[in-house]
Amino acid sequence: MKYFVLDRGDEISVELSELFHRLAAENGLELDEKSPDIVVSIGGDGTMLHAFHTFIDQIPSIAFVGIHTGHLGFYADWKADEIPELIHMMSNQAKGETIEPRVVQYPLIHLEICKRSGNSSYICLNEFTLKGVDGTVVAQVDINDQMFEMFRGDGICVSTPSGSTAYNKSLGGAMLHPSIEALQVTEIASINNRVFRTLGSPLVLPKHHRCDIYSRKEQNLLLTIDHVNLPMDDLISVSCQVAERKISFVRYRPFPFWTRVRNAFLD
Ligand code: NAP
Repeated sequence: MKYFVLDRGDEISVELSELFHRLAAENGLELDEKSPDIVVSIGGDGTMLHAFHTFIDQIPSIAFVGIHTGHLGFYADWKADEIPELIHMMSNQAKGETIEPRVVQYPLIHLEICKRSGNSSYICLNEFTLKGVDGTVVAQVDINDQMFEMFRGDGICVSTPSGSTAYNKSLGGAMLHPSIEALQVTEIASINNRVFRTLGSPLVLPKHHRCDIYSRKEQNLLLTIDHVNLPMDDLISVSCQVAERKISFVRYRPFPFWTRVRNAFLD
């Protein structure tokens, strides 16, 4: 089995990476930074976002595992002191000595960005947000080619089910179980008065629906895809839909979503 480790870069994560490499070598796992079977992220959920974007072109053939160095995360479930146990399970899997572990797949969002200077496409794991840099965002929101609303406010967030526990939650969005193939559109401080009106509630769109956001004035915008910031001064539209591709996580043991939600927000 070929693996790669991506750590957060702080002292603890770097030390844990070194420990991981040492134990992995002792247990016959092969380090491969170009085409690994498993990518291990060491740090937090933010580190998993970096790992995902680093291997974005190989998403169909890679499975991810997260080790956290602080609090239990949504993507990072293994604790630092459990690294020997994790390596043991990976090594047994490589030797075919255990039944294959479960692989769970989570939906992603595909976005097409149309600018006067050219077009591009991206995939996000948590969400993308479109925000104003120097004033109110004015944007037309269409669903399936029908105008839905004219948005005025600080911005719009479109999240995946696994990203629903991140920025989306702070915006009052619902938490969606990652087995639901959907995306969620939430408003960021919309202006609502006698003149301007938006729905004011999060929207959950199924996989076969598309949402197009059209910039409706000359405006400097910031498009943030997970942790990546892309300034946009000539945006025409962002079109999004649940992606065909999904991210895979290897589950050597159960890690139920609602347990994570309870641990993160209630315990
Ligand atoms: P960051 O500002 O350093 O960290 C943001 C926080 O979000 C961290 O505590 C991170 O957990 C947590 N997080 C990431 N993915 C999550 C998920 N799926 N569910 C629950 N919590 C999650 O930024 P970053 O580390 O580069 O992460 C970028 C993410 O920050 C964005 O995708 C966005 O979701 C989030 N964000 C949230 C807000 C907000 O809530 N107001 C504002 C901006 C950005 P770890 O500590 O385990 O890494």
